Amino acid sequence: MTGAVNDSFGAAVVDATAIIRQVVASRVENGDVVDEIVQETLARVLAASRRLDDAAAGPYAIVTARNLVASRWRGKGIGKRHEHRLFDPRGAVDPEDSLIKREEAEVMRAALQRLRRSEREVLVAHEVSGQDTKSLADDLGSTPTAVAAQLHRTRAKLRVEYLLEMHGEPPSPDCRPVLLALSAGARRRQAGLDVGYHLLDCEFCAALCEPLLDRSAKDGHDDARLPVRVDADVVVARQRGREVAIDAGFSATEATVIATAISEIARNIVRFARAGEITMTRVTDGDVSGVMIVARDAGPGIADIDLAMTVGYTTYNGRGLGLPGSRRLMDEFEITSEVGRGTTVTMTKWHRPWP
Ligand SMILES: [Zn+2]
Repeated sequence: MTGAVNDSFGAAVVDATAIIRQVVASRVENGDVVDEIVQETLARVLAASRRLDDAAAGPYAIVTARNLVASRWRGKGIGKRHEHRLFDPRGAVDPEDSLIKREEAEVMRAALQRLRRSEREVLVAHEVSGQDTKSLADDLGSTPTAVAAQLHRTRAKLRVEYLLEMHGEPPSPDCRPVLLALSAGARRRQAGLDVGYHLLDCEFCAALCEPLLDRSAKDGHDDARLPVRVDADVVVARQRGREVAIDAGFSATEATVIATAISEIARNIVRFARAGEITMTRVTDGDVSGVMIVARDAGPGIADIDLAMTVGYTTYNGRGLGLPGSRRLMDEFEITSEVGRGTTVTMTKWHRPWP
């Protein structure tokens, strides 16, 4: 059962907390506002933990705190509003604001032109025409895994080019590699580039790093959100899980493993909770990508999680693998449950696109 944040990253953030407070308190007088900004900074840094090198956690916290202080004074500029739309597609959008939408589309078109032609073609085939990685791999004489890795790098690059299209060229040749490493969540490359030092030193990158890291659902359009109520939903969840896994570059065998873990969890919801939902999201951690499954229900909850997680324990006639089976099949598995309120299972499977 793995926590969401690794220990060394958490320790780096705790170490940085006193400095964050100093940074904020030197610019803001009201103590309550200071507390609020410190809390918001910590939340944002923790949210970026999977995509940020440990050594960059402190510097990122400091520039985030500075940005938060500045944004309270400046208000939200037009660039900020654009960024919000691009990186959090589920955020609120003013429907009447067609001018901004048009500008946004123009910026995106220009950013796409900044990609290499081969990168752009594969991205558009996948995201606009809906061609899956398997069929792209066949066309390109490549493998689905390599295509998924390439798409990941291209999306990271597109996010950077989009911001540069809006904000202009960066002041130093070091900036672009730093922004790309942040955007891709490539932690080893971040460490090699000493990204933390660069962020403290470069105002330009300090202003842009946040929208690159602060995006809640990575490549959110890959998500699937499925209701689970009846047996047929279990079948659908299994099939959809398989598709998401294949699309994320997993082999057919691995996709079956993931699909099996999903159907076990879905079956549990149908049997014990009657209604719930399962979401599937592609996730990345540096060069490693994977699939995260979250199953939520509002059922009776599990009184004794340790007992429920015992191998061989099952509350229905010994059929299926149950929760312990799902845990064995996945790399990370976390369960929280409250009696009378419901249960949430979060599980992730990782694979390495490059040896
Ligand atoms: Zn820079």
